[in-house]
Amino acid sequence: MKKLIELIETYKDFPNKGIEFKDVLGIIQEPKIFKELVTKMSASQIINNADAIISIDARGFIFGSAISFHASKPMIVARKPGKLPGELFKKYYSLEYGENSLSVQKKALQKYNSYAIVDDLLATGGTVNCISNILKSNNKEVTGLLVVVELLKLEGRLKLDFPIESSVIF
Ligand code: AMP
Repeated sequence: MKKLIELIETYKDFPNKGIEFKDVLGIIQEPKIFKELVTKMSASQIINNADAIISIDARGFIFGSAISFHASKPMIVARKPGKLPGELFKKYYSLEYGENSLSVQKKALQKYNSYAIVDDLLATGGTVNCISNILKSNNKEVTGLLVVVELLKLEGRLKLDFPIESSVIF
């Protein structure tokens, strides 16, 4: 059986020159490994200590919703522009390859007091920092961040002041 790290393919110069894109989608083609990963992530104190999960558009939804199901925790989503209806909290951020904004539905965010952030990958930390700012400015507690992949040399974790757990480090 393949190992988790072998299911993460690297694409050089995608989506821009100089970026080494780590494609995590191979993981969901190997249900046994996906299940092991989700089971491990679901058992984290970061999840246990949270009222709810907030997962990030779009690959974060894959792992976030599986953890939500496995750990029986509610999940809300942070989405890119133009995707969410209703009243939103919106914040701009920069990422490894560009700038974007993330939005959260006000009604959903208000339901819970503490959140575990879930995404596929931590690079510079700009994306997670954006979510954390939305949460903190609404007086929500951040129990931590769970990601599948961490790109260590981009030093994302230095920007973040809560526990971080990653399963594969490059
Ligand atoms: P950052 O804000 O720089 O930490 O970027 C993290 C977000 O951008 C995650 O949602 C990733 O899906 C995506 N991302 C950034 N860099 C990469 C990369 N090298 N490979 C795959 N996804 C990336």
